[in-house]
Amino acid sequence: MKRCHNFNAGPGVLPVPVLERIREEMLSLPGVGMSVLEISHRSKAFESILTQAEDRLRRLLSVPDTHRILFLQGGASLQFSMIPLNFLPKDGVADYIVTGSWSEKAVEEARKVGRVNIAATTKEESYARIPKPAELQLDPTAAYVHFTSNNTIFGTQWATEPEVGDAPLVCDASSDFLSRPLDVSKYALVYAGAQKNAGPAGVTLVILREDWLARIPDGLPTMLDYRTHVQNRSLYNTPPVFAIYAVGLTLEYLEAQGGLAAVAAANAEKASKLYAAIDSGGFYRGTAQRDSRSLMNVCFRLPNPGLETAFLREAAANGFEGLPGHRSVGGIRASLYNALPLESVAALVDFMRDFARCHG
Ligand SMILES: *Cc1c(COP(=O)(O)O)cnc(C)c1O
Repeated sequence: MKRCHNFNAGPGVLPVPVLERIREEMLSLPGVGMSVLEISHRSKAFESILTQAEDRLRRLLSVPDTHRILFLQGGASLQFSMIPLNFLPKDGVADYIVTGSWSEKAVEEARKVGRVNIAATTKEESYARIPKPAELQLDPTAAYVHFTSNNTIFGTQWATEPEVGDAPLVCDASSDFLSRPLDVSKYALVYAGAQKNAGPAGVTLVILREDWLARIPDGLPTMLDYRTHVQNRSLYNTPPVFAIYAVGLTLEYLEAQGGLAAVAAANAEKASKLYAAIDSGGFYRGTAQRDSRSLMNVCFRLPNPGLETAFLREAAANGFEGLPGHRSVGGIRASLYNALPLESVAALVDFMRDFARCHG
């Protein structure tokens, strides 16, 4: 079996033991006699898969009893709409901190529901950094403050959550969820599409504070009302059975790695190795400011577009997958999600050194 070095930004690399387990159990779940693709979402077998996934997530992130865990569909993108529909009153205002394209999209959806205050943006600086605390202009009447913890396209990441006082804090954590510990008690709502770091595409993980549900107006479409999913434990309608099963296996794998502190240490080692290669020699140039650098998505440039094309062509020929930057920004992006082995980073660093030697 030959696997390439998978630097895809999402869907991304999954742990090999998880894939092996899926293969082993594909024709018959142990003790069930059917594939996970064939079972009823109301069966005991799925009940146990869902409960275990929820319990594991609760343990890994130390999710307090004040918060509920949901497994929803529609991607992080549907959360852009559900959050304002549920929590932004029509005559109210919400603060949005804009640090990249995904924050912009979240703002666009919120504006269809109510008023948005852009509490800070680094758009003028090509989103090369995270705003400083003093730059935040929060509206004291805001229904919530929304931010994006890791900017998948621009390669920046919040080192820690913004200080917002008593305002409910909402986070799109799609591309760094489960990459490091998270103090869930600070959040009213955290959401993440699973396909970056937590499993395959098809399910969105949402953690929300239960007392916040009291703010939801009546009359929302049933599927868009968080209360529907809380009351029915994510089983109001058919959930994405396979994706939840695969997320559960991924969570089990993360627990076996020693939990999120150990995972974060491994991620920090991978990122520092790659950034050290970018910073040495002057051939490569990181696009994010140093204090804002993402440990998940590492974005960099070469001296000119011709060299970038050659770099990507040669990288692909050498088994490196997923290195082109997002189509909106170009350049190179190496995504270092949890399941990417250190050896893949080491191989990339060697390749980069050889390429710079030949072309520098
Ligand atoms: C990928 C991504 C999204 C979009 O996720 P979908 O599940 O495709 O809707 C939103 N926000 C961030 C930060 C992302 O990385």
